Amino acid sequence: MPAIDHDQILHARWLIAEATTAPLENHALVVKNGLIAAILPSADANTQYPDLPATSLSSHALLPGLINTHTHIGMSYFRGLADDLALMEWLNQHIWPAEKKWVSHEFVRDASLFAMAEMIRAGTTTFNDMYFFLQATAEAAEISGMRAHIGMTIMEFPTAWAQNADEYFARGMEFFEQYKHHPRITPTFAPHAPYTVSDDSFIKIKEIADKHDIKINLHLHETQDEVDQSLKQFNKRPIRRLHDLGFISDRLIAIHMTALDAEDFAILAETRPAIVHCPESNMKLASGACPVEQLHSLGLTVALGTDSVASNNNLDMLSEMRAATLLAKLSSRNPQVLPAAATLQLATLNGAKALGMDKIIGSLAVGKAADCIAINLDAIETLPLYHPVSQLVYAAGRDQITDVWVAGKQLLKHGKLTTLDEIELKERARYWQQKIMVKSHSTVA
Ligand SMILES: [Zn+2]
Repeated sequence: MPAIDHDQILHARWLIAEATTAPLENHALVVKNGLIAAILPSADANTQYPDLPATSLSSHALLPGLINTHTHIGMSYFRGLADDLALMEWLNQHIWPAEKKWVSHEFVRDASLFAMAEMIRAGTTTFNDMYFFLQATAEAAEISGMRAHIGMTIMEFPTAWAQNADEYFARGMEFFEQYKHHPRITPTFAPHAPYTVSDDSFIKIKEIADKHDIKINLHLHETQDEVDQSLKQFNKRPIRRLHDLGFISDRLIAIHMTALDAEDFAILAETRPAIVHCPESNMKLASGACPVEQLHSLGLTVALGTDSVASNNNLDMLSEMRAATLLAKLSSRNPQVLPAAATLQLATLNGAKALGMDKIIGSLAVGKAADCIAINLDAIETLPLYHPVSQLVYAAGRDQITDVWVAGKQLLKHGKLTTLDEIELKERARYWQQKIMVKSHSTVA
């Protein structure tokens, strides 16, 4: 039978089927209909599938696509706009005013395409976003071929996207109805934070999410300041307040999670949300450190996200992994915490679990989607090579990622984007930069 579109064999020097299992040497991944049809020694693949086109990745590791579990990709053009500030000053004085002026369907679509180019080049195949103008991000995902979870932002104050909570709900649900059956795009809820969302809205979100089985993203315990403000306003810490509303459950994806006390840990152990750790954003804004090891010891799923490029300033999951493990070791004063394989797990299978997608992505297994990436380890930067996973987490750079596939479709081939035009994307970035610079200089003192 002739091979259909995207059916192929990928021969790899090392095949890392799952972050915490030993790499298989000289193995092949067989892709059929966008799914993984077999994983077997390369020699056997050639004899069993003689009709399929084959790609040789003779000095590469082939591994599951990286999952960036927290992004705001519509903010791409704010990279480097305001650095070296604390969270609330950064938001109030710089990011929110810039968003008010610039964010539109066209802006978010362009910024999303630009971010997807950066993500694909860095080996990310799935991202979990929260922003505004959701259809613009979805349109970009249709073009790029990436797998996208797109959050329906809910907050109480007006933006270019909606004027009040009712309008955020209406616009969110319109998006949900439009994309709920899409094969690669999944709508989620994304209430912004405890300090921007009312009790009534949290209750309503939980009701709708339970009814339609929707995941809920929330920035939670980003800083000690957030906890202090909540104690002043509600006489409760944020986690206690949300728990009393019945909001915290395994449906929740709780993002950041610093400044946790014993009662917080007890509530989390009982309610079992997934946690997203964003170490580079937390370090850059001096927000705090997420206690990854303690959360793991409670049996909770911890995944990894970059947050936006305005607070990171990149969408590089290799560097995020390195930051996660180094920060975990330093903050616990224990070098054995978050070893390389467990760190890669944060960026792969744990991301899939947090999104409720671990039957489909997060590891390379027969029947799962062929979402995978190849990284060339035969480089000055990663030789000598004793342990491929160690090199990936501690030494490799994103420029060593050569090939990326989502559902068997190749999005990066020998380092070149196949679905996006790099020259055009750079032109659009310069176009928006000019507009933002002129306006910023005339209005932001
Ligand atoms: Zn965020």
